[in-house]
Amino acid sequence: MKDREVIETLNDMKGVFGERGHNQYSLYSIDRAIAAIEKQIPVKLINKAGRYSSHYLCPTCNKMYWKDEIVPNYCQGCGQKFNLD
Ligand SMILES: [Zn+2]
Repeated sequence: MKDREVIETLNDMKGVFGERGHNQYSLYSIDRAIAAIEKQIPVKLINKAGRYSSHYLCPTCNKMYWKDEIVPNYCQGCGQKFNLD
């Protein structure tokens, strides 16, 4: 099962839990699980090419990385996985 399908399933569970009146704690747990899985899905950095300097931003938390520095596979600010291709 791919990550997107897992997220879809968790969202379905959230709907069922909501209809059955489960407490907010269950829904919060599902939201946390979805957020954790979403961070495992690689995203491209936002390219901020400027006149005097160039940098990238993490699209999840806006942590900045200079163009010359070695960008890690995962964001040091929030743990988001990057697609560096
Ligand atoms: Zn980040």
